[in-house]
Amino acid sequence: MTDNRVEIIESCEAQVAELRVRRALPTKGRRTVGAWCFVDHMGPMSLSPDRSIDVAPHPHLGLQTVTWLFGGEFLHRDSLGSEQLIRAGQLNLMTSGHGVAHSEENPGLRSGEMHGMQLWVAQPSMTRDGGADFEHFDELPRAEMANLTGTVLVGTFVDVSSPARRDSDHVGVELDFHGGPVTVALDPTYEYALIVANGAVLVDDVVIRPGALAYLGAGRDECRFDSSGPSRAMLIGGVPFDERLFMWWNFVARTQDEISDAWRAWATGDARFGHVASPFARIEVGPPPWLMALR
Ligand code: MN
Repeated sequence: MTDNRVEIIESCEAQVAELRVRRALPTKGRRTVGAWCFVDHMGPMSLSPDRSIDVAPHPHLGLQTVTWLFGGEFLHRDSLGSEQLIRAGQLNLMTSGHGVAHSEENPGLRSGEMHGMQLWVAQPSMTRDGGADFEHFDELPRAEMANLTGTVLVGTFVDVSSPARRDSDHVGVELDFHGGPVTVALDPTYEYALIVANGAVLVDDVVIRPGALAYLGAGRDECRFDSSGPSRAMLIGGVPFDERLFMWWNFVARTQDEISDAWRAWATGDARFGHVASPFARIEVGPPPWLMALR
């Protein structure tokens, strides 16, 4: 048993290219869950020919991007030369290290449904200045239980481990609830949070719905979930991240100066972030506010 209370933190609305998303992390209520430092929930939405969801080339620093779809598809291109289509249930994991750039393009006829999440994992000091990397998995291991299937994106859930790269002690699992109660073993050294994508999930008599992050706290060695019908959620967790993060735009760093250097490198087309072979023009942004003030 545990003294943890489920804390519901409402997501904020954000705009990514022409896409409205619900940002579950970071919010005023919470900056990180383990090394997870960013969660956008997009859709479900119907695509139409007049609605672009392409995200043009942009840089990253000090983080891993985890792209996970429940429906639809994206074409990933990056400055390592990767070109990879991703569909529901598959994982694209890009490690930026000291610098990488990528685009996420909608290759189809802009029809059908799009639904997914993009998450970021802050890299620890051990690897954050290292090289960039990209991994794709067509299939991931599953934990099958009564009333629940867990698809393990990264880390270990129950006794099932993902082959995906992991630089810190964290886990990400898609939980597909079939309806009815289920108790799962958790790691008491981890803090956890649940973001519901479809339906509703009950934890400790608190109903969790899409549009919020439910912080489950640390110290749980198990958790009982319940749902009245099919529901889908992302469970993220990890050892609380003990390095103070400084985040701006698409960069995760430790200091303002690191961000300033990264912004200058992107703005000047420096080789640091490389080149993405994309039909879309790179995304340009103005300087961070502390550089504006110096002008
Ligand atoms: Mn990105």
